[in-house]
Amino acid sequence: MKKSDHKAPDMLTLLAQARGAAAHNASPKSESVIPPIEMTTTYLRDGSYRLGQSGEYRRDDSANFRQVEAVLSAIENGADALVFSSGMAAAAAVIATLRPGDHIAAPKIGYYGVRRWIEHFCAQFGIGLTLVDPGAPGALERAITKGKTRLVWIETPTNPTWEVTDIGAAAAAAHAAGARLIVDSTVMTPILCNPLDHGADIVMHSASKYLNGHSDVIAGALVTRADDDWWGDIRQHRYMSGAILGALETWLLLRGLRTLGLRVERASDNALAIAEHFEGHTKLSAVLYPGLESHAGHAIAKAQMDSEIGYGGMLSLRLRAGKAAALKLATSTQLFQPATSLGGVESLIEHRATIEGEDSPAPDDLVRLSVGIEKCGDLIDDIEQGLAEIG
Ligand SMILES: *Cc1c(COP(=O)(O)O)cnc(C)c1O
Repeated sequence: MKKSDHKAPDMLTLLAQARGAAAHNASPKSESVIPPIEMTTTYLRDGSYRLGQSGEYRRDDSANFRQVEAVLSAIENGADALVFSSGMAAAAAVIATLRPGDHIAAPKIGYYGVRRWIEHFCAQFGIGLTLVDPGAPGALERAITKGKTRLVWIETPTNPTWEVTDIGAAAAAAHAAGARLIVDSTVMTPILCNPLDHGADIVMHSASKYLNGHSDVIAGALVTRADDDWWGDIRQHRYMSGAILGALETWLLLRGLRTLGLRVERASDNALAIAEHFEGHTKLSAVLYPGLESHAGHAIAKAQMDSEIGYGGMLSLRLRAGKAAALKLATSTQLFQPATSLGGVESLIEHRATIEGEDSPAPDDLVRLSVGIEKCGDLIDDIEQGLAEIG
């Protein structure tokens, strides 16, 4: 007997014939409290060949993204939001709206990936760039040229020294020159500040950090004040470049967001207690944290952040004994784990100058702490023990 005479039943045909009863390939109406992980690339059309609620094809758009985007838009008081495959993809989508001959002002010190991308992109496409020292009064205003500057990029507080930029003043300076203001608000989170309320045009997040909060998703987000043509270009860029978020990542981000408020509150309480405890420590030359009254940006931070909740979970320590001592501390703690990144439930410690490489503006005597939600006393004891190991 030939093999072809004795075929197994064609499962796909049988299942398609049973559509409605078995419905193997369409989602039944779900009554689950938690949305399902939507593993699909494409969505059904109805009997009139019309598209349904979900969309057409996942790379273009999807109700699955729109669910998490609606949450982000609501908590940032925005008109619309877009999620991306990473924070860098979100940043790149905004920067890609610049044209040869345009000009951008961006921070000299800040998240190094964004800074390097802006430098690279501007050099490649003949776009003017002025790097601004976020700690120097008036420097941002001087960097903006009316009619030429299209984008003003700020990060507040800035990595890894946590200078604070006045968002309202930056928005006024940008708008007076006909430019738009983008705020990288990854470190503040929507719990502590809504930059759109202070005049920003777009707020950007690396959702890999606090928004997801569990160090297990790479994702990015933009939230806009106005759903205008410029926003349409950015949306188009995501759809054309394909920088979309995967189904599992979308689901995890939505899950992480449910505890954002609790996590940020706890991390902020812990970070302030650590900063206050170690300020003035004999082995440290500085504790950099906007929540400390001694910090140069404290007054602005207090005014523009929800200081009743706190000042966020990020701070840095500078070691009197220099680079070797900083590296020693970064490998001597037990609870603070030696890894880059931030905004997870677990505390991390890193030597920023090593992570960023040779041209890093980060002082080499500095360690950056991402304070998690562990018990505060244990975190303080952990750093005390690490500092004791430095001779
Ligand atoms: C991590 C980070 C980014 C980049 O985001 P990815 O999700 O890693 O691509 C941008 N800005 C800040 C402040 C960050 O911490």
